[in-house]
Amino acid sequence: MLQLPKTHLAQEYQNELNIWQKEINALPSYPEKVEQAKAKYESKIKTVTFKNIRKTLETMCSGNRRCCYCEDSCADEVEHILPKSFYPKRVFIWKNYLYSCGQCNGKKNNNYAVIVGNKIQHITRKNNDPIVPPPAGKGVFINPRIENPLDFLELDLGDDLDGTFSFRPRYHLLKDGIDYQRADYTIEILGLNDRDYLCRGREQGALNYRARLIEYQQNKDSLTNSQKQQFIKDFKKMSYPTVWQEMKNQYQTIPSIKQLIEQSPEILEW
Ligand SMILES: [Zn+2]
Repeated sequence: MLQLPKTHLAQEYQNELNIWQKEINALPSYPEKVEQAKAKYESKIKTVTFKNIRKTLETMCSGNRRCCYCEDSCADEVEHILPKSFYPKRVFIWKNYLYSCGQCNGKKNNNYAVIVGNKIQHITRKNNDPIVPPPAGKGVFINPRIENPLDFLELDLGDDLDGTFSFRPRYHLLKDGIDYQRADYTIEILGLNDRDYLCRGREQGALNYRARLIEYQQNKDSLTNSQKQQFIKDFKKMSYPTVWQEMKNQYQTIPSIKQLIEQSPEILEW
């Protein structure tokens, strides 16, 4: 999971979102806002505006429209980072959207938590619970529209790309600190390590990156400039960009990658 580019939505669609959001915000009570946010959203998802929102979100995905959370499956759901059932004032906010797969969206669903004081407070609402606003506080879930997830998470790449390829809180985070807990919470909520195919996919991704780098190292002297540019372009489109980012972040401790980067330091720019 990488921080997403700061992409703008075309003004005409942004204006439409603003109007719909204003209508929700003007409702007199919180329960009405919650109810109408859901209903209004459902009634708008087939509009031209949302067709274009999807198109713009697609440009923020890696590879062949991969999910912004897991980078593995096809992104086909507009995900509200702050759930609309708790945050009706965020239902039509562009910055609250990303494109995710059904697995990630389904796992996250209405799970949310906020930091109150220095503690994590989980927000839940069962069927007969009163509809009241969540306590004020920063979200525990790491928001890739505004934060860099790799400030909090790292991948277990092992000694030389032989690790578990599961995510864990970044090594420098204090175990009893809030950032460590935010990392744990985000991994858990999205099930980033529970789905075995994700870990295997990341492992294969890492081995593919290394194979391409070896190929580059062997051939770079005989490549023309435009062949080199094409190689880099193709490299940047490879699956699991988070894996590559982590290979760069950790290369000093991964002997085979360290050697390749020392021979061709320009690849750190890729
Ligand atoms: Zn996903």
